[in-house]
Order: sequence, then structure tokens, then C-alpha cells
Amino acid sequence: MHANNLKPAIGYIRFSSVKQTGGHSIEIQQNTILHSAEMQGYCIKKWCKDEAVSAYRNRAERRPGIIELYNSILNGEEEAVFFYDSSRVSRLFDDFALEVYYPILKEKPNCKFFEASQNEEWNPSNLLTQVKLLYSYEEVLTKSKRAKDAQKTLLYSTGKPIRPGSRVPFGYNKVQDTFFPNEEAAIVYFIFHLASWGYGNKKIADVLNSAQVPSSNNGEWQASSVDFILNNRFYAGDLTWNVRIDYNCSKRKPYGQYDLFENNHPPIIPAYLWDLVHNIRQHKKNSGKMNTPFFLRNIVHCKSCLLELTPKDASPTNSKKKYTYYYCNSCNQKISSDMLHDIVLKRLSVELEGMFDKMKSQVIKRLSDSEKSLAKQKESFKAQQEIISYKERMIENMDQHEEWKQILSDSKEIITEKLTEISLLIEKIKQIKNENLIADAFLHFKEVPSQLLTYVELRTLCLALINKIDISLSQTPRVSIDYRFSPFFILENQIGQITEMPLN
Ligand SMILES: [Zn+2]
Repeated sequence: MHANNLKPAIGYIRFSSVKQTGGHSIEIQQNTILHSAEMQGYCIKKWCKDEAVSAYRNRAERRPGIIELYNSILNGEEEAVFFYDSSRVSRLFDDFALEVYYPILKEKPNCKFFEASQNEEWNPSNLLTQVKLLYSYEEVLTKSKRAKDAQKTLLYSTGKPIRPGSRVPFGYNKVQDTFFPNEEAAIVYFIFHLASWGYGNKKIADVLNSAQVPSSNNGEWQASSVDFILNNRFYAGDLTWNVRIDYNCSKRKPYGQYDLFENNHPPIIPAYLWDLVHNIRQHKKNSGKMNTPFFLRNIVHCKSCLLELTPKDASPTNSKKKYTYYYCNSCNQKISSDMLHDIVLKRLSVELEGMFDKMKSQVIKRLSDSEKSLAKQKESFKAQQEIISYKERMIENMDQHEEWKQILSDSKEIITEKLTEISLLIEKIKQIKNENLIADAFLHFKEVPSQLLTYVELRTLCLALINKIDISLSQTPRVSIDYRFSPFFILENQIGQITEMPLN
């Protein structure tokens, strides 16, 4: 191609000043990028560079070269970005996508990204690309092997035996009594990331196996090992491990039946992602099938009949064109699924943007209100507790009241459980208000353009953000969307159940 016809592009290089290994030196990266750019019909007009600092702690956004890249592409004439390989742009595989790729695409929808070492266009919504991003293969593997060896030496040389039952969670190293995330932490993060987009244990295990990602027990990944990781609160940085019998029920195991770690440890999973994953999984339990082209099933209702619409595929066999509908079994009216999907996704992308701030302040207000009624409920339970103790003292020495004593001690136990539950909810509300959990959870869904999503992902997005859709089924259908007040609906239900209990 003639030089004059080449379109302008930016080259991005990340280098380590310490020691260049594995053919990633600046020159090799530069040459590969120049070569790939020419083959794809581009000419590199500008270079942005970052010196590699510590591995995955440094999110893409905070690197000066990335910031320069972001600003130049938004304000300049360049139409594409070339980088050497996925490991050069990111370690946390979705940070570059969320903080650079999607925001740029939003402003400049025609901008393209190329992975020069593969000489191909790069699309982070592709699952295999995500696995590659997560894994800069050999480099990471050798590092994690080295870390393991070091850990072994340390453990044996200090002469401290490993306590039985205190196995170090996958993704962490334990040096003396302190836990540190290791290179496998990226795998743990990736598992949560996939789960937050609606993928099940089996599918996640399949993806990891197909990319030959080593598992926690050095064999194949199983659905059960994925499930184990997703339910381990240690990854969210919890001091206490194994405290709750089950995440969705806030009942605590009796003291002494759970392990307490003496030292705090850095979490691998941010609080919002933990919450999101467990909310999505609850949605899945309630709403069944995820991988369906009718990704609004169970969400859409006929406005006049107040009935859930039924998905229907009326395409004749061998027909190339699809005839798929959402159908009302009562008034026999229907709407084309393509049309409805289109309307809803367009509305989502426009309205979420505008409603975000409003929603956030509403959520904060509702949480504060809940906090108040929970506090009130707590006082009332405490008063009941005192009355029971008083009654207990009254009949303490009376032999003929065994039955009563039993009833009183049972009620006391129930009230104590409720009080624990309330304290946990209040704790959780405080955390949500303080830590920007809501903003992070919205951002998680907001930034990804819907045309890049799979059915599972679209369904997850809709279940997380939409409570219900009502449709007036007529020639020009009118669609009204009832959004959720936050993606954290388990919490809402728990607060609802407790604050709706009679106060006396
Ligand atoms: Zn109807």
C-alpha cells in the first residue's frame, strides 16, 4: 500500500526497565507494531509508553502512557491503536477494556484496536481474548511457579508446620502469618468477572479448561471448584472465613465453629463485584434459563391483561427468516422480539446514562430510611428480649413451668438471631453508602455496548437493572420500563422482610 493511503494510528508500548525477557524489548514491540500497522493499512503517528511497574495492582487508567493514549485518540486524528500483545495493556484483563477501550469506542465508535503480535483486530468481549488477557502465558506461569517454590522454602525453613484445615486459598501465598495475592489472583478475578455476566459454574470451568488455565488442584477445572471459589468470602477480604452458613441467609455459625484469621489481608475481589455476583446468581435461580434469544422472558408483561408474555418461535422449518414473538395468552396480541429488544436496549443505553445520578441519590435516601427503620426494629427486639429475661427470672425456681421455660428460651434464641441479622444489614448498608458500591456496580454494566454482548450477558444485564417491563400491545407498542432501585436486590429483600415485621 502506498504511504499516502495509510490511516493514522497510535502505538502503545509497555516496557520493563529492569530486564527484558521473552522477546518483549522496546525494539521488538516497536518493530512488530510498525509491521502490523503497515499490513493493516495504518501508519503510526504517535507513540505512548509506560514503564511497567508492579504487576496487576496498577490499574490501566492510572498509567501515564495510557492516559496520554486516551486523550490523544479522543482529541486527535488517529483512527486506531496498536499494542504488542494483551499482556502489554493490562493485567486485570477487564480494566483496559472498561477504562480505555469502551469509553473510547463510545466517543469514537469507528476507532479500532489491534494486537500487533497476532496481527489482528482486538475485541475484549470475545471470551478467548479475555482468557488471553488474563494470561500472558509463560511469563505468568513461570512467575507463579517461582512464587510457589519460594513459599515452600519459607514454610519449611521456618519450621512452622501448616495447620490442618487452614489451606491457603487459591490466589494467595502465605508468608509467615500474612496472606499476599499471587499471580493466580487474576484467575480468581476472572472467575468472578465471568460470573458477574451470568455465566454458570460449568461454563466458566469449560472456558478455563479450553484455555488450559491450571486449576486450584492442578487438574481440570470442575464446576464445583469454581463454585467453591465464588462462595469463598476470603476473596472479598473478610477477616472471618466461613462465618455465614450461606451468603444468602445471614445466619451465623455459632462462635467457635468458624476460623478467625489473625491478620487482615488484601482482597482480590472488590466489594461491589462480590455483591453483584451473588445477586446475579440469585436472579438466575429465580429466573431459570440464561442462554436464550428471548432474553427478556419473565420480565415483559401485557399492560392490559397484567400477564407475563410467553416467548414464541413461529418460524417455519427451513425458513431463513426468523419469526419470533413475545405473546400474550390472554388477549392473543404479540410483539416481535427483535423490535422489543431493540426498543428496550436503546432505552437502557439512553436512560441509564441520564438516570444514574438521580438513581444514586434515591438509593442513598432509601438506604438511609431503611437504616432508620432497622434501628427502630432493633430497639423493639431489645425491649422484647428484656421482657423475656424478666419473665424467665420470675419462673426460674418453679418446677411446674418447664414448658414455659422452653418457650421463653426458644423465643429468646429467635430474637438473638434477628438482632444479629439486623446488625449485619446495618453494617452492609453502611458499607454500600461509604464505598461507592452502587456507582461501581452500575459502571460495570453501563460501559459495555450492548451490541457486543451475548444472550447470556444481555439477559444478565436486563435482570440486574430492570424489575419489570409493561407493554401496551398495539400497532405502535408503548413500553414502560420499571428499573430496579439498585442491582443489590438480595439486600432489598432482606431489609423488606425485616422492616415489614410487626413492631410488637
Ligand atoms: Zn394481553
